Amino acid sequence: MPTLTEKKSIRPASRAQGRPAPELIFGDLWEYDPAPETADPKLKARYDLFIDGRFVAPKSGQYFDSINPANETRLAKIAQANAADVDAAYRAAQNAYTKVWGKLPGRERAKYIYRIARLLQDRAREFAVAETLDGGKPIKESRDFDVPMAAAHFFYHAGWADKLDYVAPGRRVAPLGVVGQVIPWNFPLLMLAWKLAPALALGNCVVIKPAETTSITALKLAEIFQDAGLPPGVVNIVTGFGDTGAAVMGHPIAAKVAFTGSTEVGKIIMRSLAGTDKKMTMELGGKAANIVFADAPIDQAVEGIVNGIFFNQGHVCCAGSRLLVQESVAAEVLAKLKNRIKVLRVGDPLDKNTDIGAINSAEQLATIKRLVAAGVKEGATLYQPPGVLPAKGYYFRPTVFSNVSMSHRIAREEIFGPVLSVLTFRTVDEAVEKANNTAYGLSAGVWTDKGSRILKMSTELKAGVVWANTYNKFDPTSPFGGYKESGFGREGGRQGLLDYCQLA
Ligand code: NAP
Ligand code: MG
Repeated sequence: MPTLTEKKSIRPASRAQGRPAPELIFGDLWEYDPAPETADPKLKARYDLFIDGRFVAPKSGQYFDSINPANETRLAKIAQANAADVDAAYRAAQNAYTKVWGKLPGRERAKYIYRIARLLQDRAREFAVAETLDGGKPIKESRDFDVPMAAAHFFYHAGWADKLDYVAPGRRVAPLGVVGQVIPWNFPLLMLAWKLAPALALGNCVVIKPAETTSITALKLAEIFQDAGLPPGVVNIVTGFGDTGAAVMGHPIAAKVAFTGSTEVGKIIMRSLAGTDKKMTMELGGKAANIVFADAPIDQAVEGIVNGIFFNQGHVCCAGSRLLVQESVAAEVLAKLKNRIKVLRVGDPLDKNTDIGAINSAEQLATIKRLVAAGVKEGATLYQPPGVLPAKGYYFRPTVFSNVSMSHRIAREEIFGPVLSVLTFRTVDEAVEKANNTAYGLSAGVWTDKGSRILKMSTELKAGVVWANTYNKFDPTSPFGGYKESGFGREGGRQGLLDYCQLA
């Protein structure tokens, strides 16, 4: 076993297969051989719109590029839907709703949804590679989290489809009709599953728009809908940027709209739909506090902090982007945190050893850089581990800011990148006060040995999810959603179903 001081000589630069010398690479401990995932993502060169069960060319004839953010190459051309395409999608959905899907008994709908879940499991590796190529997230996350979780959402909701009498005991549950949905780029397939599965289980039909930079897995899922024999028009996928999202949210046929994305765009949509009778759910931004008390298991908490903010490059609405640490252990936690992020590997998302992949787009990288520069300018102390980033592609090193005050932009604004702001507190009340002092309220984490304190904190924190001695854990049975400017409505669990039905 080489000692730490010997480690730099264990692999000569010549064996590093064209990569920079080991001592310059992220991951200060050992250099690993590259371990790329090799499954074929089975991408098409061009993806059309999915309307009425078929892939159709956009009426505009226009396509845009979907880029691999890891190396800035084009993966595929994606159709740009205009208002006429969105209208065709809604008409197909309405037709499917009135003639087929809305009339099917729940036990029949369940069969289709189970089939979708199983077909997704069958093609899991292929989907994981496609998701990583299109969005930049590490393959170990798309393989172990995104794709299995998406399948789990279809399984869970398939299970509900014939048990809807138990959603609201004593009340009769009916679908809403056609639902319009718009989703972001951070969990492209998973957000799609969160939106589609409950809607379909209850008997609604859907028009959905993925984000501009990550449409591919949605269109691959459309192939699964075809293979599953899902009746045409039950799910329609319209891709595009610019006005496409607004056309989906504003269409008169939509009985309900569901949006996941930024608070800024959520507000625009709410303003534009004020006065209409559309039901709405909004899953918006966050600025979560991960709160570490002095009695917490510190090493475990450090792992949780790392998972909370560096998971998926920090492209997570519920990311633990503010660390609140009790003053007496602040120095210890910060030192351990720095040591830990020194050995995180930033680089090729397809490599199974990679911890932090590519930032989703050049625009998002610019946003992260802008906010980090603001943090430095406002006087916070920046720490970034040394190392060389790949020359091509959009990458950002894991970043920890200490000496942060509540007024700093990095403590208030959603950065949506691998950037942690560390603040301290002395008392329980101060921790609650600081954690709640934000416009958002999506999630929070509490690390302590005391069960009673966990209960107190989970009651007083104004956040939709409070994790205790863990972070970023998800389950289809557990409702997820926000307080305040993080939105309203829930996804997952029985509560999530209530947002896709009417009760009689
Ligand atoms: P975004 O800019 O708000 O975009 C989200 C989606 O809305 C995209 O599909 C976008 O299309 C579309 N869109 C843009 N302008 C629109 C308009 N005027 N009307 C209707 N649709 C419009 O957000 P993002 O940058 O993709 O995603 C990051 C944000 O999502 C973060 O704030 C994050 O916190 C939030 N998020 C929240 C949750 C949650 O559950 N609360 C989960 C995940 C993400 P284009 O791509 O074509 O612009
Ligand atoms: Mg892309």
